[in-house]
Amino acid sequence: MQAKQNLLGLDREGLEKFFTELGEKPFRATQVLKWMHQFGVDDFEQMTNLSKALRLRLTEVAEVRFPEIVMEQKSEDGTYKWVLELDGQNRIETVFIPEEGRGTLCVSSQVGCALECSFCSTAQQGFNRNLTSAEIIGQVWVAAKALEGKANLTNVVMMGMGEPLLNFKNTVTALNVMIDDFAYGLAKRRVTVSTSGIVPAMNRLAEETDVSLAVSLHASTDALRDELVPINKKYPISELLDACKYYLKNEKRKKITFEYVMLNGVNDSVEQAHQLCKLLEGIPSKVNLIPFNSFPDTRFKRSSNNAIHRFSGVLKEAGLIATTRKTRGDDIDAACGQLVGRVKDKTKRQLKSQHARAL
Ligand code: SAH
Repeated sequence: MQAKQNLLGLDREGLEKFFTELGEKPFRATQVLKWMHQFGVDDFEQMTNLSKALRLRLTEVAEVRFPEIVMEQKSEDGTYKWVLELDGQNRIETVFIPEEGRGTLCVSSQVGCALECSFCSTAQQGFNRNLTSAEIIGQVWVAAKALEGKANLTNVVMMGMGEPLLNFKNTVTALNVMIDDFAYGLAKRRVTVSTSGIVPAMNRLAEETDVSLAVSLHASTDALRDELVPINKKYPISELLDACKYYLKNEKRKKITFEYVMLNGVNDSVEQAHQLCKLLEGIPSKVNLIPFNSFPDTRFKRSSNNAIHRFSGVLKEAGLIATTRKTRGDDIDAACGQLVGRVKDKTKRQLKSQHARAL
């Protein structure tokens, strides 16, 4: 028997193709998108504007299956974290951050991460697999349902576990659903892909979507970035910034957000702030300083408030827009870089770091 097609993982184009192949009219796609994503319905029987025969056919060949919440935590500051069960072996985490007038969902793209950024706890867990498009959009589905009547989900950032641009196709499909008026209808500028700088995929993304782009820069020289974000050895800063400029060729995209984690004594000096200004000259940008969030066995420390203030002052004086990310949800380990879930590691990295700790 063929596996049932999970309709949650299809964007409008995918659904149109699915229905055409079933011998149905393509407009069924928008009807079903609305049922699933606007009304939260996962049972075909309840999709009452479909004919009885079609509903029956759908129960035979398709399903609407979302990840299951195994734990919900709510922080003192109102941040939610959900642990989602995927396949009996792996779990991912999704975070919702309510703020004045908006609510941001932080979505994961992979089980663990294949990159080895030295200051990130997801990296220490190793990597198992890419999430399917259904598992990515499923996080939005589950959150929207859990938040119903409590808070509004207005923004999505692909800043959870994993590197979204190493799971390109599934990420783009899920982005399409987020911004589709028949699904979540989020404004493109309110949907952000964050990348450690996978240059060829950034260029491809420029061709395929208009969503906002955030780049995890974290250092102003290649020597330091090689250490903090090792993918820099493959795609160094100059190539990364060229890809940023290319992304901004389309005028609909106004600026790039550069994320910069503040690590005490590592990347937070006034001189490094000046270097950063120089680097970003001519690129419409916003710099988001992220105070480092600690996790067990890390060698890094968060910069002092003074250092962050000084650093941000230099950027502002140079005319850059600089914001400091408020740490949210750290009492429930929901802050940036603290997401871990449960990763059945295939890279043996967990073993390696256990060894290193034991020595
Ligand atoms: N792989 C993507 C998506 C992860 S986004 C990327 O690298 O952009 C998560 C953001 O939080 C990234 O900017 C990441 O560098 C940052 N981050 C990771 N660990 C952190 C930590 N311990 N404290 C603060 N920020 C961290």
